[in-house]
Amino acid sequence: MRLLDYDTTQQMGATVVSSTRITPEDSDTDIRHIDLVVDRVDFSYQVGQSVGVLVPGPHEYGQREYLRLYSIAGGTRADDLRPVISLCVKRCFYIDGFNGERYDGKASNYLCDLKKGDAVTLVGPYNIAFALPKDNGANLLMIGLGTGIAPFRAFIKHIYSELGGWKGSVRLYHGAMTGIELAYMNDQNADLKYYYDEETFKAFEALSPRAHFNVPVDLAGALAQNADEVWTLLQDPKTYVYVAGLKQISKQLDEALVKIVGSAETYEQQKKMMIDQGRWAELIY
Ligand SMILES: Cc1cc2nc3c(=O)[nH]c(=O)nc-3n(C[C@H](O)[C@H](O)[C@H](O)COP(=O)(O)OP(=O)(O)OC[C@H]3O[C@@H](n4cnc5c(N)ncnc54)[C@H](O)[C@@H]3O)c2cc1C
Repeated sequence: MRLLDYDTTQQMGATVVSSTRITPEDSDTDIRHIDLVVDRVDFSYQVGQSVGVLVPGPHEYGQREYLRLYSIAGGTRADDLRPVISLCVKRCFYIDGFNGERYDGKASNYLCDLKKGDAVTLVGPYNIAFALPKDNGANLLMIGLGTGIAPFRAFIKHIYSELGGWKGSVRLYHGAMTGIELAYMNDQNADLKYYYDEETFKAFEALSPRAHFNVPVDLAGALAQNADEVWTLLQDPKTYVYVAGLKQISKQLDEALVKIVGSAETYEQQKKMMIDQGRWAELIY
C-alpha cells in the first residue's frame, strides 16, 4: 500500500519520554530507541504493527503531510496508565539521483532530533500483525536486519516477559554491518541479552565481512552455520517464519534458503505452502 493511501484522519498526540542512541557515538550508524507516551489511553496495537509519524510542516511541493511508518519495538504503561510505545529509528539520508548530493531523510532526522518532553503526532496502528500462534509449542523463526529487529524486540519481550515463556524453538537472526552497530545487542544497549538464558531462545548475528567496503551483511553465512536446524524448522508444520527490514532482505533470505534447501523449486513450494497456511509473514520496507 502506498503511503498516500493510509488513513491519517485519526491523529493522536504523544510526548517523548526518552530518546537514547543505541549505537556508539563514533559510529556512522545512528540508531535511537525512543519512548513515547501516547495521549489516548485506549490506544492498542499488536506485535508487528507500525505507527505513523506526521512530521510538522511546512512541506515542499505543497505536500499536505509528511508521513512515515515505524514498527512498534515494545511497550509498557506510564504511571497514569497511558500507553508508552518504543520506536527504534535509524537516522537516514538519501542521495539525490539528479545532482548526486546527500540530503537528510525528513522523518527519521525529525524523530532522532526530538528531546524529552517534545510533542509528536501519531497515526495508526497500521499493517499486518506478526500474529503469535496459539500453541506455544510452535517454533518461531525470526529474521530481521538493521531496524528490522524492532518488531522482534517487542515479540521476544512479549513472549518471555509477558506470557511467561515459550515451549517451541524461538530463533532470531539479526544483523548489522558491524557488531557495535547491532541494535539491542551492543555496549550501548543489550536488551536481547535478558533472554539469552531462556532455554528455548537462541539468537544468531549476521555481520558484514568487510564493512569498510560496504559488503552487505552476511545473512546467508549466519543461516548456513545452522543449516540443518533451519531446514528442519522449515519443514516442521509447527514453524512460523517472520521477516522484517529493508526490501533487500527478501532476496538475501531467498538466496540463502535456496542454498540450504538445495533446490529453488523445493524452497519455493515450501515457502508458498507456509504463506498459504499463514505461517510466513513479512514486514518489508
Ligand atoms: C511498515 C514499515 C515499518 C518501518 N519501520 C521502521 C523502523 O522500525 N525503524 C526505522 O528506522 N525505519 C522504519 N521504516 C522506514 C521509515 O518509515 C522511513 O522510511 C525512514 O525512517 C526514512 O524516512 P525519512 O523521511 O527520514 O527519509 P526518506 O527520504 O523517506 O528515505 C531516505 C533513505 O533511507 C532509506 N531507508 C529507509 N528506512 C531505512 C532504514 N530503517 N534503514 C536504512 N535505510 C533506510 C530509504 O530507502 C531512502 O533511501 C519502516 C517503514 C515501513 C513501511
